[in-house]
Amino acid sequence: MPEPISPADTSDDERRLLRRCIDLAREALDDGDEPFGSVLVDATGTVRFEDRNRVGGGDETRHPEFEIAKWAATNLSPDERRTSVVYTSGEHCPMCSAAHAWVGLGRIVHAASSEQLSGWLRDWGLPESPVACLPIGTVAPGIDTRGPFAEFTAEIRALHARLHGIDDEP
Ligand SMILES: [Zn+2]
Repeated sequence: MPEPISPADTSDDERRLLRRCIDLAREALDDGDEPFGSVLVDATGTVRFEDRNRVGGGDETRHPEFEIAKWAATNLSPDERRTSVVYTSGEHCPMCSAAHAWVGLGRIVHAASSEQLSGWLRDWGLPESPVACLPIGTVAPGIDTRGPFAEFTAEIRALHARLHGIDDEP
């Protein structure tokens, strides 16, 4: 597993935007959905769209990264998509990585990695996700990615522990 990015190597913009993603993830969990949140920022640094997981209603494809790709396809020019950056609390799953690449979006900055998430499920004796845990780079090799970030690991792990009803006190 690659070393998480240290707080010393995390920029203020990354910290602020990943913080927003994790707040959205917490809002999703509080509302009966899974703890994931994502934000799309354009080349000027403006947040253009944000969403959080909405699978609680039974549609397991309602991931925020997938909603971002669909929103971008409708609302941004190809050049705007290419120069946008998507910040997200958890690394894109294969479905969302594919959607991101198909619509021509730019960089992805993720607070936690899929490898971390699947490791936590293993630690807790829970079944693996029904979709293979492939990193973004395997599904969409042309996408520049950055993450995971050490300063958010414990908080995101705790959100997922709460989702699964796991007592994860250290
Ligand atoms: Zn996804």
